[in-house]
Amino acid sequence: MGLACLFVSVAAAQAPPPAPFTTHQLKPNVYWIEGGGGNSGVIVGDKGVIIVDAKTTPAGGKELLDDVAKITPKPVTTVILTHSDGDHVNGLASFPAGVKIIAHENNKKEQDAALSAGGRGAPPAEHLPNQLVTKNKENLKIDGVRIELLHWAPAHTSGDLVVYLPSEKIVFTGDIIAAQLPDPLIHLEKHGSSEGWIATTKGIVALNADQFVPGHGIVQTKADVQKRLADAEAKREKIKSLVAQGKSLEEIRSEVGDPSPAAGRGGRGPAFPTFTEVVYRELTNKSA
Ligand SMILES: [Zn+2]
Repeated sequence: MGLACLFVSVAAAQAPPPAPFTTHQLKPNVYWIEGGGGNSGVIVGDKGVIIVDAKTTPAGGKELLDDVAKITPKPVTTVILTHSDGDHVNGLASFPAGVKIIAHENNKKEQDAALSAGGRGAPPAEHLPNQLVTKNKENLKIDGVRIELLHWAPAHTSGDLVVYLPSEKIVFTGDIIAAQLPDPLIHLEKHGSSEGWIATTKGIVALNADQFVPGHGIVQTKADVQKRLADAEAKREKIKSLVAQGKSLEEIRSEVGDPSPAAGRGGRGPAFPTFTEVVYRELTNKSA
């Protein structure tokens, strides 16, 4: 969540230290850690640990590593990034030098652009992705663990990567699923796409898995993800037909019962465009 990251940074400057993170176990060797930004995955391999997403700030990254050390004495050797947003990436600043950082090639491009733009929220220059995924599917075996990295289309961002553990039947979706929001969250400024989101989520529900760790919020069942997909498809079709009737964005928002942008994010921080706005912009090429 790009803008959320700004909000978190501003809040962090004034707020007391954040609540401690919470570790949840999914399988004997797989955990997820909640708090401090996006959810993180922890996969314990034969000799080392693979992390999925690295929290928002250097302090958050350090807390994540401290929590991993409570699970296992094995060193963190590999990080997989689900996308480029700061609340999943910037905690990498506290990670050891030389850690392998795997990301989709478009994620790297987005981080490079954010780094040249500079300012608050820029990714840590010493910890950019150093192993890029260019194919839509890569089957890896990292430290004895089978891991599939999947990309169907630009969805939340252009550089989304879904992390699938076929033996454990677990999927880390990144922000393709942001479970605290009613609708898909799509960053048009990172070339995300509602059509791509639907294609991606269809791919996710087709996986032989039963636990889906979202980028934000609690673990989802397959039925949860299927419902989210069906709701989004129906809403997109409705918006499409209203656009075809020449309705304005405001008319469409009221007809589909769109939450106000602030409510759509739970009332926190600067508003992201809602799913309705995103689809409207895509179909009309208008900036609302
Ligand atoms: Zn995000």
